Amino acid sequence: MDLQGTSFIGAGRGTGGAGEARAVNPVSGEKLDPAYHAEGEETVEAVCRLAAEAFEDYRGRSGREKATFLRSIADEIDAVEEEIVARMTVETALPEGRCRMEKGRTCFQLRLFADLLEEGSWVDARIDHADPGRAPVPKPDCRSMWRPVGPVVVFCASNFPLAYSVAGGDTASALAAGCPVIVKAHGSHPGTAEIVGAAVRAAVTRCGVPDGVFALLYGSGRTIGQALVRHPAVKAVGFTGSRAGGRALMDTAAARPEPIPVWAEMSAVNPVFVLPGALQERGEAIAEGFVGSLTLGVGQFCTNPGLLISGREGRSAFAERVASLAAGTAPATMLHKGIASAYHEAVDTMISKEGVESLARVEAEAGNNAGAVVLGTSADAFLADHSMADEMFGPATLMIEAGDEEAMLGVAESLEGQLTATVHATGEDREVFAKLIDVLERKAGRLIYNGYPTGVEVCHGMVHGGPVPATSDGGSTSVGPRSITRFTRLVCWQDFPDNLLPTELQEDNPLGISRIVDGARS
Ligand code: NAP
Repeated sequence: MDLQGTSFIGAGRGTGGAGEARAVNPVSGEKLDPAYHAEGEETVEAVCRLAAEAFEDYRGRSGREKATFLRSIADEIDAVEEEIVARMTVETALPEGRCRMEKGRTCFQLRLFADLLEEGSWVDARIDHADPGRAPVPKPDCRSMWRPVGPVVVFCASNFPLAYSVAGGDTASALAAGCPVIVKAHGSHPGTAEIVGAAVRAAVTRCGVPDGVFALLYGSGRTIGQALVRHPAVKAVGFTGSRAGGRALMDTAAARPEPIPVWAEMSAVNPVFVLPGALQERGEAIAEGFVGSLTLGVGQFCTNPGLLISGREGRSAFAERVASLAAGTAPATMLHKGIASAYHEAVDTMISKEGVESLARVEAEAGNNAGAVVLGTSADAFLADHSMADEMFGPATLMIEAGDEEAMLGVAESLEGQLTATVHATGEDREVFAKLIDVLERKAGRLIYNGYPTGVEVCHGMVHGGPVPATSDGGSTSVGPRSITRFTRLVCWQDFPDNLLPTELQEDNPLGISRIVDGARS
């Protein structure tokens, strides 16, 4: 398609007027055509009005209709795979294989939500029959289920240009819930966003859902992003990015007359603990697996392992092995200039701290390149300086030597909320393992046994969330079908006649879904 450089607003395109910006090839520094025209606050008003109107229709569509729409988006994206790959590789420096894999993941997610809607039980319908004869007061008939919350704003992630951007997990789960979506594009991959935006628009037309169900806006986060989150028609926000950005949006949402949830994924260092038995038994293999996870995708994953904690015995050989494997990796280009410079700054800051030594540092040769970095410190030094647990977004890790079991538990206890926590253990480590997992269960959304944190499976059992600052709400997941409830709220119908109830709650269960009736799963 010919890229136009304008927003998608209802059935039409934006006219801009609030400045323009171009994508930059992170390898060459070359500015790419076309220029992208930023929208201003007046567009926010129009887009939010359209979304609110669309909600009145879209929320009443059946699960089957919404499923058809999601499948149609996936089909339209499949049809433009080559265009996506051609533009995405140039805008992001991500290799072709990764682009294709991410496209596959994006379409898989859309179809998974379509399956969920067709099956229908996700609404968690619960029915308690009336008991008019109950003393001292009669019991009413109460029936409840999840309902869509209203228009949702989604901020595209820089590190997942497809799977957490225009038609990614947040958008798919919000559309599945029955919410219109307004996407704020990320400035580092506007062309990829436009191609996917056109695919979603085509599906809107093909499926006859209201035009306001989808919008894609180009412009600045601090102007249109903030204005969208402030707008009264908007009822929830999905965000993946920096801690500062997520926090700013949470504060804006909380300061509204009607505060709304911001489902933000922000920062994590995903600790990996190696217990003594495991270190002795397979230290070499753990070092290899760890460095593979650390350097995957130039470390630009929210689940990148930024802390590696092990005991004293055998630690120096282990540290040497991790450092030499990391030193043998090649530097590669990061997603954009901002991420590359933030990485180098974070590494420099960490190295300058008292008690931190550099064990390996692959120099970035050019432009927006980044190389693997392994730093070392002691548990005492780490516990004395809280900022050593700060995220260095990229292929850098801090190895912590914990003299004894108490020191290891102390490090675990000191951690902020994490997306993941990993423990390598053997049968010999049973006792300390139990104590450590007990602490880590309070810290992380996903506990990993003898594995590595990168690679987040999209499946029903997945949890991609964690206490603050990993995400804004440790009770949620942004990956997998359970993420749909972020964009819903519970509604109860009391003493309604059967014909006025939503189909899911009607007495003879016309959709045949699983429900809880009078306390028992049907
Ligand atoms: P970002 O700076 O947080 O930006 C993400 C999106 O939020 C952009 O669309 C941005 O708009 C918007 N935004 C940022 N601050 C805002 C504010 N105060 N008000 C309204 N909107 C705001 O993240 P990024 O560009 O993806 O990367 C920057 C850093 O974030 C990285 O170096 C890394 O440290 C961290 N990061 C972490 C993860 C993770 O999963 N842990 C993922 C990605 C990035 P504009 O672009 O228009 O400003």
